[in-house]
Amino acid sequence: GKMCYYFSKSKSEGKGLSKDLLGGKGANLADMTSIGLPVPPGFTITTEVCDLYYKSGRKMPDGLMDEVRKHVGSLEKELGKKFGDDKNPLLVSVRSGAKLSMPGMMNTILNLGLNDVSTAGLANATGNERFAYDAYRRLINMFGDVVMGVDHEHYEHIFDGIKKKYKAKLDTDVPAEGLIELCKAYKEVYRKYTGNDFPQDPYAQLEAAIGAVFKSWMGDKAVKYREVENIRGLLGTAVNVQSMVYGNMGDDSGTGVAFTRDPNTGKNEFFGEFLINAQGEDVVAGIRTPQPVAEMPKWNKAIHKQLLEIKKILEEHYKDMQDIEFTIEKGVLFMLQTRNGKRTGTAAVKMAVDMVKEKLITEEQGVMRIPAGDLSQLLLPSLDTKALETAREGGKVLTIGLPASPGAAVGKLAFTAEEAVERAASGEKVILCRKETSPEDVAGMHSAAGILTSTGGMTSHAAVVARGWGRCCVVGAGEMTIDEKAKKMMIKGKTYGAGDVITINGTTGEVFAGAMATQEPKLGGDFATVMKWSDKYRTLNIRTNADSPEDSSRAREFGAEGIGLCRTEHMFFGEDRIAAMREMILATELDARKAALAKLLPIQREDFTGIFTAMKGLPVTIRLLDPPLHEFVPHDAKTQEELAKQMGVKPAVIKARVAQLHESNPMLGHRGCRLSVTYPEILEMQVRAIIEAAIVCKGKKIDARPEIMIPLVGTAAELAMLRKLTEETIETVKAEHKFKGTLDVLVGTMIEIPRAALTADKVAEYADFFSFGTNDLTQMTFGISRDDINSFLPDYMKKDLFLADPFQTLDQSGVGQLVEIGVKKGRSTKKDLKIGICGEHGGDPASIEFCHRAGLDYVSCSPFRVPIARLAAAQAAL
Ligand code: ADP
Ligand code: MG
Ligand code: MG
Repeated sequence: GKMCYYFSKSKSEGKGLSKDLLGGKGANLADMTSIGLPVPPGFTITTEVCDLYYKSGRKMPDGLMDEVRKHVGSLEKELGKKFGDDKNPLLVSVRSGAKLSMPGMMNTILNLGLNDVSTAGLANATGNERFAYDAYRRLINMFGDVVMGVDHEHYEHIFDGIKKKYKAKLDTDVPAEGLIELCKAYKEVYRKYTGNDFPQDPYAQLEAAIGAVFKSWMGDKAVKYREVENIRGLLGTAVNVQSMVYGNMGDDSGTGVAFTRDPNTGKNEFFGEFLINAQGEDVVAGIRTPQPVAEMPKWNKAIHKQLLEIKKILEEHYKDMQDIEFTIEKGVLFMLQTRNGKRTGTAAVKMAVDMVKEKLITEEQGVMRIPAGDLSQLLLPSLDTKALETAREGGKVLTIGLPASPGAAVGKLAFTAEEAVERAASGEKVILCRKETSPEDVAGMHSAAGILTSTGGMTSHAAVVARGWGRCCVVGAGEMTIDEKAKKMMIKGKTYGAGDVITINGTTGEVFAGAMATQEPKLGGDFATVMKWSDKYRTLNIRTNADSPEDSSRAREFGAEGIGLCRTEHMFFGEDRIAAMREMILATELDARKAALAKLLPIQREDFTGIFTAMKGLPVTIRLLDPPLHEFVPHDAKTQEELAKQMGVKPAVIKARVAQLHESNPMLGHRGCRLSVTYPEILEMQVRAIIEAAIVCKGKKIDARPEIMIPLVGTAAELAMLRKLTEETIETVKAEHKFKGTLDVLVGTMIEIPRAALTADKVAEYADFFSFGTNDLTQMTFGISRDDINSFLPDYMKKDLFLADPFQTLDQSGVGQLVEIGVKKGRSTKKDLKIGICGEHGGDPASIEFCHRAGLDYVSCSPFRVPIARLAAAQAAL
């Protein structure tokens, strides 16, 4: 097929063709050409050719160079120049360009086509010897570096010598004779490190450069980038061969990069930098300090004006903010690149709202434009963009773990939960730094500004708990080792102690040395506008996972329409109750257990009263106790002794009971509704607390709407039995309190065991609602423990066995099928069965889209993800 697509004022062969074929850069060069913008002509070699290159064992496909020569011929004719000519040579750039821009793929080669003869010709033709040799030295350098792998430093070293010799401070101060000398020296460097002379045949240069672009597609950096960004299924990179324009011809020339709007704030202001008498990457390479584009009118008013016009044309064409690259040759502007610009979450929101106001896009397009997940940047403190850049460039990144819970936190290291609580109480900001966290650490986690663990995955205890609070958290930072006793943490041979400050970035997983500036969230007008739009278009309801009045209120402020999951076991970790809870679990006799439950009842009642009050008028789904019991019991001798004293038994009794409770596989053990089957009194106590709390609220004219959810049901019979017990308890409590009014109480179940999904028609007979517990459902469907997945997930991702962590984004084709079966069968029994989802997936935009399609009534997620879910639900509906 056709391998090259020509673009120029006279014809734009690639017009309207896809980025899949031409790459992003190539497609947009064709686009810009066809809408009449000044683009130097050239041609694009397609991504299919790159694919062919690899399929034929890294060989240049047959016929490619013939087609290339033909297209170079067209350029020669169009521009009246000749490739390699000794009078007026045509020069080209060779630029990589995949469908998505990939930093670190390959550096562009400029001025290709120069050799000893054509450089002299270029000097003659332009009457500018200095410029010609400046271009040549760049080519020898770039070609050596990019195509032949000669270390850039070898060149730099020599350039420094020449600058010194000519007493030049800047590269632009070096006179022509210095550059001629430099080119000679560069050619020697080239020969020394490649064993060959710098190629004088321009087509040999071109062929080698095209091959280098193809090779770079599989270069380490590019492969790694695609891995990290989860980019799959692309054919390869395109190659753009484009005639050169020169920003280095003197003080009337220059080059620059800009955004059509401010990518940090979203403000509708042309934003960027330019450098006079410079070429290519000089602007970003920091060779000299560029000037902001706002200063450009002082240098060349007309060009500035032209750029502003182009900004308008481009935004109208692409209906989005553009990131552009341009060059000015002797006062004439050329466009070299455009693409949709990357932006912060804040900027995305502002731009969407502004562009709708400007009637550039519709409200629906505005909704679709904002990556829902990026809203988290608006809801949490984040690292200052500048500070972040500086820290990254300054090598301050100690290590990178998993971005478990977004936001940023700065603090001194604390190595135990108790220490975190104490130091936080005395006003210190601490980062709790642990191998992993367990329920016993909850108080310390809550006191800490952020949480950092060396093990664990995205659904580990630390991750789930932190996300629930919107607390910044990085988990699984495997390069870090922790010595809890010595209060020390080691990363890559360096040691950090309790006095050391670190900064963690929960949005990326980065861990930095030292304190970094953060910025507070602003939930201003634009954010509210986007939320209003979202609510207009979505059909899914959004609930929250919350188990305290504070979380409930916050979620309500964020727009939650109810609680989809109130986990009661989290309630038992508080200082005032953990002891009673342990007593209850360790009790071997019914009486002892009932005594402990009696202590817990008023505490629970109060918990529920608080939550019902915060959520008045909205449904509150309360899941009955579902802990692996062993999490609650003390495993160390000292705590066991204390507890024994408290309970008035011998330590040996405790020890024996702890041993008895030990399970080889607690995730599949005595938990969920199985607890209530063995110990119905636990269910009775919890249902009693719920109903009494509802009655208390009714007395205060607070509309409490409890939904009792029975977890981990595998058979309809389990639910039938426990539903009956629940209903009996409700009646008993009502009678005891002589309650005559109506209480709207629903009794439903969590669908989290595959068998429950498969038999959902039967289960539905006893359920007023279903809620898919997709954490457990995923765990049980895959047969992968969510606490242990991180030891092999990285390999699974690297080897393409998993495209995503199934605990983060719902596995639609497998686990999703169980959800679909559950919905279909459940509603075959009860047409209007209310169905939601309450796993971690409830806050993941891709999973929300699935839930919408599957016909769920609501998704439930942690409070800080509620706005994200609202937006994602609207995007799913559009
Ligand atoms: P990247 O993808 O890394 O941005 P580019 O291919 O866009 O690499 O090239 C980098 C820079 O090189 C451009 O911004 C531009 O300044 C310069 N450049 C590329 N092609 C040409 C050309 N034909 N004429 C002048 N400068 C060019
Ligand atoms: Mg570029
Ligand atoms: Mg569960």
